[in-house]
Formats: sequence, C-alpha cells, structure tokens
Amino acid sequence: MTDGFASLQVQRGYTPGTPQNAVAPPIYQTTAYEFASLQDAADIFALRKVGNLYSRAANPTQLILEERVAALEGGRAAVAVASGQAAVAISLLALAKAGEHIVAARQLYGGTVDLLQETFADWGIDVTFVDQDDLHAWRAALRPTTRALFAESVTNPTAQVLDIRSVADIAHAAGVPLVIDNTVATPYLQRPGEHGADIVVHSATKYLGGHGTSMGGVIVDIGSFDFGAEPARWPQLTEPYPRIADVVLWDRFGPSGQALAVLIKTKYVHDLGPSLSPFNAFQLLQGIETLDLRIAKHSASALAVAEYLAQHEGVASVQHPGLPSSPWSEAARRYLPRGVPAVFSFDLVSTGDAEADRIRVHRFVDALRLVKLVANIGDARSLVAHPASMTHSHLTETQLAEAGISRTTVRLSIGLEDPADIIADIAQALIAASIETVEVTP
Ligand SMILES: *Cc1c(COP(=O)(O)O)cnc(C)c1O
Repeated sequence: MTDGFASLQVQRGYTPGTPQNAVAPPIYQTTAYEFASLQDAADIFALRKVGNLYSRAANPTQLILEERVAALEGGRAAVAVASGQAAVAISLLALAKAGEHIVAARQLYGGTVDLLQETFADWGIDVTFVDQDDLHAWRAALRPTTRALFAESVTNPTAQVLDIRSVADIAHAAGVPLVIDNTVATPYLQRPGEHGADIVVHSATKYLGGHGTSMGGVIVDIGSFDFGAEPARWPQLTEPYPRIADVVLWDRFGPSGQALAVLIKTKYVHDLGPSLSPFNAFQLLQGIETLDLRIAKHSASALAVAEYLAQHEGVASVQHPGLPSSPWSEAARRYLPRGVPAVFSFDLVSTGDAEADRIRVHRFVDALRLVKLVANIGDARSLVAHPASMTHSHLTETQLAEAGISRTTVRLSIGLEDPADIIADIAQALIAASIETVEVTP
C-alpha cells in the first residue's frame, strides 16, 4: 500500500481477512476478550504479549482509528479517547504532575482554558498563559519545573495561525515537548509534527468525524521528543513502572515509539476511564475516509464567504488568514499551503451603542436559516455562534478584548453546502440586521 494521504485515510489500520472478510472496519462492540489460556492472560497483563484485554483501555475498532490518525499526522503512536477534552487533559497529565508547570497560549479553546486554569490548579499543576505570538513571553514564562508548552495550530474563533517552528524551538531549548491541538487545521491542512511539535491532540468530534454525530479525541505521539535525554525529568517513563512488572517504559517501548502511549493507556485512560466507544470509533473512521475531500471544500467555501463578507458594508472586519488583510496571512502561507481552516469570525459594523449592537447581532443570527446556531464547529452543516454570549460569555471585557472578540463578533464554521447558498443566507441576514426599528423591551 502506498503512503499517500488519501490512501492512508481510507485504508490504514485495517486489513480485511479475519474472520468474515468484512471490507469495512467492524464495530467490535465488546467490553472484554476471551484469553486462550491462563498463561496467555498473564502474558497480556504483563505486556509481554500484545493482546486485547478490556475495552476501557483499548478496543479493536479504536486501535484502527489510532493507527490511522497516527499515520495521517506522521506520528508513531496514538491513543483515542472519548472526547477532545479528554485528549487534552490526559496528554498534559502524562507530562506534568503536581508541583510542575505548563506554559500555554492564552488563545486556547475555552474548555481548555477552564481545564488548565481551574481544574489543573486544583491538582497543583501551574499554568502560565501567554500571547501565542509573543515569543519573548513564551521564553520568559519558562521555569525549571516546566514540563510542556501547549497551543493550537490555528485558533478558534479568530483563526490565528501559530508560528509553530519558533515555539517548538523555545520548547526544545528548554528540554520540554511542544504539544499542539490540531483540531481546527486537521492533518490535511497541516501536520504540526513537520514543524517541530512532539505531541498532537485532536477533538475528533470536529473535522475528523466531520458530520456532527460523534464525540472523540486522539493523542498522537510524533516520536520526536527524547524523554531519555534528561531522564530525571521524566520519572514516569524512565523509572521502573510498578504497573507492568517494573518495566522501564522508555527502555522497553521507546524504540518502537509507544512509550508515552503505553503510559497514557495503562495509567490515565485505565484510571480515569474516558474510553472511546467502538461505535464512535467506527463513525470517526468513516468520517476520516473523506477528510481530504471535505476539508478542501470546507476551506474553499470559507474563503469565498470571507471574501464576500470583507467587501460588505455591514461588516467591520473579517478575521480570516486567507485574506491579505489578516495579520496571519504570512503565517498561513508558510504553515497552511493547502488552504486555511473553515472556522473564522467577523465583526458586524457597530452602531456605537451597546444595546443597539445587541439587537443587531440578535437579528443577524436569528435571521439565518441555512446556517445553524450551534456551539460546535467542524460539522458538515454551516454553523454560527456569537462568542460574547455563548463560548466566551464568562469572560470579562478585558479578556474578551485580549481574545480579539467584541460584542459584534460572529463566528462561522463553514459547512459543505453550496457556497452560493451559504452566502445568500448570510446576505439576507445582513439585511435583516441592518433594518432600523424600535425594539420594545418586554
Ligand atoms: C472542541 C474542541 C476541544 C474539545 O473537544 P471535545 O471533543 O468537545 O471534548 C478541544 N480543542 C479544540 C480546539 C476544540 O475545538
């Protein structure tokens, strides 16, 4: 089999043949597996032998998904879990423990900010947030206890493109891995591992699945980070691991690139339990089979919508890195040569009055028919959200401004419908938004 992206996305990880010759990956809807003998069970438990044990840690349908996403990202191993949130949480927990520290972009997805700012703080893991474009701030935030740098390759909703190479260089100079959330870009538009990222995480709920039906997350170990270089820093991998006969994970699984994945599965997924259901793994696999076709269309349609919005008199600005006016257009050319993601935002022209702006935004959003009002992104359907009253509603005015969001900012996730229909829907909603009438407050 060849290694082309499209071939990998359709076939990698599954070979028909046993025992029913099903050409599509089967849904192995089973919680556990019958061992051939007690010796077999003992060998599998001790990881002397590879084998299915219990579906909390791994299921054969999930293993196909893991191998496929690892291949698409150019990584060596992957772990699939129940959600993107679990992927982010567990990948970072495997690197940093109580008393240690993470530096993260402040432009992160809101759920990740909540996790790092509140829950990680509860657990004694310190997180410093920096502006992801401020390389000096990344460097200044480093501490002897820093164990990871974390950012998104392309942010949501403002579509800022990270200079991954520069942040990776800072991480590596400090002897720590760079973890990148590649949810918005997908490996079709960018493979962060090719620019220095060591671990890549996904909310597969979004574009990998692509149809707004199934939650899931994936952690990919690119295999580039040498945890053996400073072993004292990574005892979880370089000291005897009591769960598996005191095996040193880095010695035993480092050469095959599986060490971090084994730690994540046998400790964090095993203990915390965010397992992916076999049915969801199947749905995500099916979504991935058309990833390149879908993302190319999502990206082209989104650019067409952005260009339409940019020339509209009712629109103050458009934050889309495919437009020459974007501060990230240069970074997009460098890191996203196949096109930029279909999630971006724009600002309706402000009236200068907060209440009138509120009415304008409500009119615009409520007038949309084809574009659905949904909190999600990465669906086959086009979606709209109003960050200031939805995803970012708990932020202060200052935090909103820092995040590049105003009261009139609207987020779009452009779907797979005809671009002309999407634009027509937005056009009529812009007209609805601009009609001046007196609002009667109830
Ligand atoms: C949605 C999202 C997540 C969380 O993923 P879930 O699958 O919703 O748990 C993490 N990161 C980014 C960038 C996301 O868009």
